[in-house]
Amino acid sequence: MSAEGRFTPGYTVRRSSRRRTIEIQVRPDSVRVLAPARVAQSRIDQLVRQKTDWIITRQRELRLRVPVSSAPVLLDQGSQLFWLDEPLILEVAVDQPETCVHLSPGSIKLALSRRIRKPRSDAIKEQLELWYRAQAQDYFQQRVSAWSAHMKLSPTAVVVRSYRRKWGCCNSRGVVSFNWLLIMAPASIIDYVIVHELSHLKQMNHSPRFWQEVTRYYPDYADAKAWLNSSGTRLQWPPADINSGT
Ligand SMILES: [Zn+2]
Repeated sequence: MSAEGRFTPGYTVRRSSRRRTIEIQVRPDSVRVLAPARVAQSRIDQLVRQKTDWIITRQRELRLRVPVSSAPVLLDQGSQLFWLDEPLILEVAVDQPETCVHLSPGSIKLALSRRIRKPRSDAIKEQLELWYRAQAQDYFQQRVSAWSAHMKLSPTAVVVRSYRRKWGCCNSRGVVSFNWLLIMAPASIIDYVIVHELSHLKQMNHSPRFWQEVTRYYPDYADAKAWLNSSGTRLQWPPADINSGT
């Protein structure tokens, strides 16, 4: 269980003369140690190091538990966004000749045109959403083409839109639709939703035959379903404030 040479979580310490034992409090993005006044710093360090695995697991659990109703963040400089599960820091430049969005490793850069008259926060949210939806349309189009060639199925159209409670949909006219928020999820999860909807072109139900079809192309579908059940609520627009969820 030694975490030697590995990542040790950062933490803050609060000492109290009335305390007799050391307690580690884990929050989604921080760790606080409550300690007796006289205990040595090295003892606290050692304990945190020993408990690293437990702390990381606990934080992961807490982060998954962010409620759907948590306060939406105001998107601005420094906000965290996701693109195919990769965290991105938002950088905003105002008063630019034109509006554009540029994705680079670790960050998403939004330039806002000086002609935009809306309040800054509305403009940021609106322009990013437009960009995300356009990118999601391209991404889904490409992945659906690849999967349909592989599965020898041909949907009549690929639609990316907003759904309140669905990740995807397939109708009797052969149109497959996807929730654009999925573009923030891992690529493997998106693939599952695509295989799921394409499989409906053969089986318009959730019968054992349908799941057989899904399994043929996506054997680990149970993991993907579990991810959507536990972490799907994190796919929101604007993103939820992770810190308010405890
Ligand atoms: Zn279905």
